[in-house]
Amino acid sequence: MSQTVICPGSFDPVTLGHLDIITRASRMFGKVVVAVLVNSSKTPTFSTEERIELLREAAQGLDNIEIVSFEGLLAEYCKKCGIGTIVKGLRAVSDFEYEFQMAIANKKLNPELETIFLTADSDSTFLSSSMVREIGSMGGDISNFVPACVHDRIVRRLRK
Ligand code: ADP
Repeated sequence: MSQTVICPGSFDPVTLGHLDIITRASRMFGKVVVAVLVNSSKTPTFSTEERIELLREAAQGLDNIEIVSFEGLLAEYCKKCGIGTIVKGLRAVSDFEYEFQMAIANKKLNPELETIFLTADSDSTFLSSSMVREIGSMGGDISNFVPACVHDRIVRRLRK
């Protein structure tokens, strides 16, 4: 499909779960815009620039990916960029309620906008950025949780 889709998230930092969704979306669609949320009310562990750089490195082999940052409402950002499809990963039932509400809210704000869910890979259904931050900052092994090419950088940063 030649369609452009958007994969939004905090990516604080990127995990193998994120990379799995981005990779699968890149095979299904013409272009994938990976959009890093800049949330002024929350202080992320990794700066916007760091999150973008880590994503860039992790997604190196994928040539139909664009990594951007955005502030404010995703529905408005999509309208502004002419993107009509959001692709999200769904890990467990616990993700469902929030994601379902967000999908409906986004559609109310921008009726052209569809949300598609990809089921998380069985190896990463348990995985979240917050888990990576917690384990990594306490010196635990995160090599099974983050892309190998950015592992050392994430570890160094979390141990600071
Ligand atoms: P996190 O919960 O890890 O902080 P983000 O807000 O950065 O996640 O998530 C961005 C997108 O990636 C969301 O659609 C989320 O459902 C998806 N995602 C996050 N972790 C995983 C995972 N382990 N497997 C599949 N999708 C995931």
